[in-house]
Amino acid sequence: MNQEQSSRPLEVACPQCHAKVLWIEENLYRPFCSKRCKLLDLGAWADESHRIAGESAMDETDIDEMILRAERGQQE
Ligand SMILES: [Zn+2]
Repeated sequence: MNQEQSSRPLEVACPQCHAKVLWIEENLYRPFCSKRCKLLDLGAWADESHRIAGESAMDETDIDEMILRAERGQQE
């Protein structure tokens, strides 16, 4: 038995906030540290199209809406 291997999961840096993220099955949002960071990263390109309408960066309400939408999408 090699217990050392299983007790030391791979560690990566969140692409969004650079926090340390353990690459484990429980972390559904890897390589991001959280759903919020994952959606913020997705929001980066969504923001591009929003800018055409002259809007500034997305606010908290937009993020909450994205999270709700993502949660529905992940039910399948
Ligand atoms: Zn993060």
